[in-house]
Amino acid sequence: METKPLEGLVHPQLWRPELNSSLLIAGPCSAESPEQLLTVATALKQTKRVHYLRAGIWKPRTTPGSFQGFGVQGLGWLKDVKQEVGIPVSTEVGSEKHVYEALKFGVDLVWIGARTVANPFAMQEIAEALRGTDIPVLVKNPLSPDLDLWEGAIRRLHNVGLRKIGAIHRGFSWWGKSIFRNQPFWKLPMELKAKYPNLPVICDPSHISGNRSLVPFVAKRGVDLGFDGLIVEVHPEPTKALSDAAQQLTPDDFLMLLKFIDSVGSPEQSYPDELLSELRAEVDIMDDLLLWALSNRMELSERIASVKSNRKMTVLQSKRWNQVIERVTESGQKSGLRAGFVQKLYSEIHKESISVQKELIEKS
Ligand code: PEP
Ligand code: MN
Repeated sequence: METKPLEGLVHPQLWRPELNSSLLIAGPCSAESPEQLLTVATALKQTKRVHYLRAGIWKPRTTPGSFQGFGVQGLGWLKDVKQEVGIPVSTEVGSEKHVYEALKFGVDLVWIGARTVANPFAMQEIAEALRGTDIPVLVKNPLSPDLDLWEGAIRRLHNVGLRKIGAIHRGFSWWGKSIFRNQPFWKLPMELKAKYPNLPVICDPSHISGNRSLVPFVAKRGVDLGFDGLIVEVHPEPTKALSDAAQQLTPDDFLMLLKFIDSVGSPEQSYPDELLSELRAEVDIMDDLLLWALSNRMELSERIASVKSNRKMTVLQSKRWNQVIERVTESGQKSGLRAGFVQKLYSEIHKESISVQKELIEKS
């Protein structure tokens, strides 16, 4: 992806200048009733730190038949709560029609969900619908760990003239068992931040965690890593929520989260056990990834063995082995791995591959 800067972006502190703190968005996953919104908005307003109330109106659900949101009816509730409590409101848009409806009802900020960001047609349509407006727009990362797709979506909004743009890190879909609902892969959003230092990138600990006990720790990690704010799911009665019940916080939990992220001292000192399990969960994912790659590599070696056997070639091809070791050493160094380590590792992998190939050829 091109590295042209995103010129002229307006800093989030100018989106709501009356709040002199980093961007904080909070509220239920979905708008469920006027009473639910009123209760949660009142509690959030009292913190004097929340810039926008969040509430999903159109819910892009993975499973058909699950709760799809209240649609335009919910927009009416958002409009009312905004007036009654005096808090700006935000929601997710997934199409041109959603944009027009949200603008009509005076929504103050919109975000684009992980499923929509991956669809360039939908992104372009949304960008065109937003052309000429001044509304802040936040772009979640796509489900897959694909920085180009994320940047592409952000650029489409910038290209139509929007300047109040930000990104939301909500973690990535991944296979395998993990304590996270969506894997944080922190390196990726950090790369986005490094590439565009003026682009606000906020963290969504709720969708990364998928479970409320982890949310404060992921939030703290985001803050410590220098993210520019948070979007957190808060519900008056999380266990009864119509969507994402396991990950929403009560307003009281949210107050604790605020205290925790404000606390000085690194989480290494204050919450060593939780931090360790979070880091170890990431290590487990990486180990699964390594083993998956090794098993795929071994399968390829087996196919190569049958080609070599048909052509009466010797198993050990020194020229090819030299090329491999040279390539991986260089590639490893680019990724910050020491040459000696990469060579030792590959010599073991190569030994195993040769012995598997020999066994196969002997059997055939
Ligand atoms: C949401 O914010 O409730 C949501 C659906 O998020 P995501 O697009 O990150 O899954
Ligand atoms: Mn949600």
